[in-house]
Amino acid sequence: MKAMVLHAPRTPFVMEERPDPKPGRGEAVARVFACGAGLTIEHVRAGRVPFATFPRIIGHEISGEIVEVGPEVQALKVGDPVTCYFYTGCGRCRWCRTNREPLCENQGPRVGYQIDGGYAEFIKLPERNFLKLPPGLDHRNEAPAVAVIADALATPFKVVRHAKIEPLENVAVVGAGGGLGIHMIKMARWAGARVIAVERNAGKFDACREAGAEAVVDASGNDVVGAVLEATGGRGADVVIDFVSSTTSLEAGFACLGVGGRLVTLGGAGEDFKVAARHLLNKEAVVMGSRYATKQEVLDALALAARREVWPLVTEVYPLAEAERVHERLAAGEVIGRAALSIA
Ligand SMILES: [Zn+2]
Repeated sequence: MKAMVLHAPRTPFVMEERPDPKPGRGEAVARVFACGAGLTIEHVRAGRVPFATFPRIIGHEISGEIVEVGPEVQALKVGDPVTCYFYTGCGRCRWCRTNREPLCENQGPRVGYQIDGGYAEFIKLPERNFLKLPPGLDHRNEAPAVAVIADALATPFKVVRHAKIEPLENVAVVGAGGGLGIHMIKMARWAGARVIAVERNAGKFDACREAGAEAVVDASGNDVVGAVLEATGGRGADVVIDFVSSTTSLEAGFACLGVGGRLVTLGGAGEDFKVAARHLLNKEAVVMGSRYATKQEVLDALALAARREVWPLVTEVYPLAEAERVHERLAAGEVIGRAALSIA
């Protein structure tokens, strides 16, 4: 099979001919029709994932079809349309058992980090890392959009649940023009919220509005907090979802919260920040993190997309051979919504 391989961080992709993968016990192989290209995997190429191992085929947002199953595979058969679950949980610990798999105490390898992912014609995974697509999603003809649902829509869907976003709440999305940010706008709108997009790249403002933001705050200006307060009639935001997560953005995000507000970090720069305990107390504010999504949340996001209640925004699709070009655009912050590679 053809595969795009990274041999080390900060090196170009190399197109290689590799043996077609053969499924072992409990494993299956899928043909890949498309694979999403987002910052989560650009981090591997850029050397920001210290536990990634090389050489590696990256990519975990796939639209595929099972072509072979190994011994003892029970829930998959040849021809099943599938996507991929990024993490590998143990399925037995208290977190796996309470629908919080991203917190698993016995995390296994991540797809595209420590085991090979979707930048190839075929992908071999443990059976439990494949999730079957529901009827209503076309894994071949809509492959780029279907591929990205499993992270770009599922991660924001989880935030809606985790931060308990209610209809008519004011939700500020920081880094709103990014791959997850655009989909967070869509998902918060789906939940009935009023969305304020906070974004520093003026070239992405229109996309934020088209995704459903009622107001756009230019984060390259000085007074983000004042602008968010103004956009909420002085009440402050009920929820601030921060995909940037720098010291500045987190402290501004906390200052934007109204009474009962929740500040959610999803990683980004992951910098430290200060919170005034008296504000935490007086507002009964909540500061929380949100990691990826559970398998059920991925299945729920797939179901929402199958019903066309929320649909992913894929603005750029390239052949596998042009992975390098996509990642240069990702690194430069030039992609609006998601990019994807079309493979089959
Ligand atoms: Zn577990």
